[in-house]
Amino acid sequence: MNIHEYQAKAVIKEFGAPVSRGKAIFSPEEAEAAARELGGPLWVVKSQIHAGGRGKGKFKEASAGEKGGVRLAKSVEEVREFAQQMLGATLVTVQTGEAGKQVNRLYIEDGSDIEKEFYLSMLVDRETGRIAFVVSTEGGMDIEQVAHDTPEKILTFSVDPATGVMPHHGRRVAQALNLTGELARQAGKLVESLYAAFTAKDMSMLEINPLIVTTQGQLKCLDAKISFDSNALYRHPDVMELRDLTEEDAKEIEASKYDLAYIALDGTIGCMVNGAGLAMATLDIIKLYGEEPANFLDVGGGASEEKVTAAFKIITSDPTVKGILVNIFGGIMKCDVIARGVIAAVKTVGLQVPLVVRLEGTNVEEGKQIIRDSGLNVIPADDLDDAAQKIVKAVKEQG
Ligand code: GDP
Ligand code: MG
Repeated sequence: MNIHEYQAKAVIKEFGAPVSRGKAIFSPEEAEAAARELGGPLWVVKSQIHAGGRGKGKFKEASAGEKGGVRLAKSVEEVREFAQQMLGATLVTVQTGEAGKQVNRLYIEDGSDIEKEFYLSMLVDRETGRIAFVVSTEGGMDIEQVAHDTPEKILTFSVDPATGVMPHHGRRVAQALNLTGELARQAGKLVESLYAAFTAKDMSMLEINPLIVTTQGQLKCLDAKISFDSNALYRHPDVMELRDLTEEDAKEIEASKYDLAYIALDGTIGCMVNGAGLAMATLDIIKLYGEEPANFLDVGGGASEEKVTAAFKIITSDPTVKGILVNIFGGIMKCDVIARGVIAAVKTVGLQVPLVVRLEGTNVEEGKQIIRDSGLNVIPADDLDDAAQKIVKAVKEQG
């Protein structure tokens, strides 16, 4: 689960990380009041969307002006003007895709005078099973580009969970960023507080880009992005409250109500599969035959008819879906339950696109019979290969 920048800053501030003062607002009036309260003389007006690259982003509406999604303001009036322009407008960044994201809230922040910009992030490194730090002097820009062009400028190390974060980790970060004296001490403290925040809140990723040195000699987190481990959210009701549903895919929200593992993708073939491995294989084979999947969907091992119906409705509600592939290997999941679920869903929402069904395993004959008796226009398939070829062909024939 992701949260907004201002929420992320509040979380790390709790653990002692240095951030600027600021206020989240929803209207130009609130922006003006926040600007007065902060006092200036420099303010930053920051679009709050769950995507990076806001500073270099562009608004779709001409009325939002030429400047990007992060703007420096030199007066209260300017803060209000920017708020008026940006609120409600659609920001397109390298991370939003062409559709962009509507800006519904802004963060008004005390402006900092920047001397240097660095990069610092933390993530769970699956290879070592540890929390890793990634640090670079090349802050404020695209870290993937830095990794590609000048990998020697990136330092990565992981922390042994048995000891936790140690003073030498802080020294390594300071050294990588060429910080000495008081700034090195601040870096040590920062590393400690971020590690504490990361573990206490079960984060999966924390990115500070840029981490800056101000002209006053202070280290500060100027931007913050956090992803939380969804499997640990039940332990953090306070984090759950930070969820902004307007930022999430409506189909994914619906799927989460039914405890379905659903992820929206860019392609045209909707997939309903049981088991994550089979679902991955299904996506792969669709691509192998030249089409793209519209989603990943694992209905799980023991799904009920109701759950299957909900899953099918989510797939058909996606206007980009040009064909559906149901691929079920009945183990605990019974093929007749799937068949009933699919038919129940089609009865309420109809079926406008070709549907290929491949059933195998427990109660397969019963499942096939239910589908035959339904009179639905279903293309049956014998195995995964056959199913993928048939749905790709059907979608291509439609053009
Ligand atoms: P992003 O573009 O979504 O990553 O948003 P950031 O929060 O990283 O802001 C983008 C850029 O705006 C930063 O890299 C800075 O160069 C600039 N910026 C943000 N806050 C301030 C500030 O307080 N003072 C100054 N001078 N620049 C800022
Ligand atoms: Mg940034």
